Amino acid sequence: MDQNKRMYFTWDIHYKCNFRCPYCWFYTKWPDEGRRNIYLSPDEWMKHWRRVYDKYGSIRIEITGGEPFIYPNFIELIKRLSSIHRVKITTNMSGDIETFVKEIDPQKVNLDLNFHPLFADIDTFIRKALILKKSGFKAGVCYLAYPPQMGKINFYRKYFEENGINFALAAFWGEYRGKTYPDSYTQEEIEFIRPFLGDIDRIVYHLKGESPRGKLCNAGYKYAVIQADGKVIRCGQLPDKAISNFLDDNFHLLDRPEPCEADYCPCNEYINILDERN
Ligand code: SF4
Ligand code: SF4
Repeated sequence: MDQNKRMYFTWDIHYKCNFRCPYCWFYTKWPDEGRRNIYLSPDEWMKHWRRVYDKYGSIRIEITGGEPFIYPNFIELIKRLSSIHRVKITTNMSGDIETFVKEIDPQKVNLDLNFHPLFADIDTFIRKALILKKSGFKAGVCYLAYPPQMGKINFYRKYFEENGINFALAAFWGEYRGKTYPDSYTQEEIEFIRPFLGDIDRIVYHLKGESPRGKLCNAGYKYAVIQADGKVIRCGQLPDKAISNFLDDNFHLLDRPEPCEADYCPCNEYINILDERN
């Protein structure tokens, strides 16, 4: 990985969602985590994101939640934010995509579309994904290999692909019926999931759950997570390691890469590891 790669942030814009997926990390935590939400206007947020621009230049912001599209004035905020930074949004696609494509430049904003079959209607989802595609946005769908949903992977893959939408899988990290995943996937399930996961690092850290502890990592230095209350942490695995507060004038990151202090790196944050191939 490129040690000089450009900086990026994950921004948990708020811990609120209009879905209640049983596999969601927040499933039992919504009321508690929701108390941390702060609701600022686009003007107020821009003050903070301009401070980042002045300090680090134009960076990439990966917005997640909860569901970002239900944050007040979200589309206006994205329009303003993408005038100085590049933006990626993870969404369940329940939002107003028609207005979004009219207001937002696909050269500056990407979306990760997550299909949650218990709450989203597949035909509505596809209609919106095609609106995005026609407007110049990349619009592949991601589906979670959650044990009770695995039997429908091929059905959904075919349905999406027949409609011209790329299909990818994410491995499930969590417990189902007393078993811990991804460790409890059978070999057959692993072989089935593997082609949809992408690069080898993703398989090592995402599917096999190899420990990154001790590896030098850019998390906290060239990457950080901004939580809904402004707390800045190295990555999702180290929530107690606060570096600073995004809303403070003296907001800062680490001065250098530091060794990983976690045993798992289940999301895509493993790309920050400076491993032996560098
Ligand atoms: S849509 Fe995403 S954030 Fe909302 S409940 Fe489902 S997994 Fe959680
Ligand atoms: S390797 Fe993963 S868990 Fe460890 S510090 Fe880096 S991003 Fe965090």
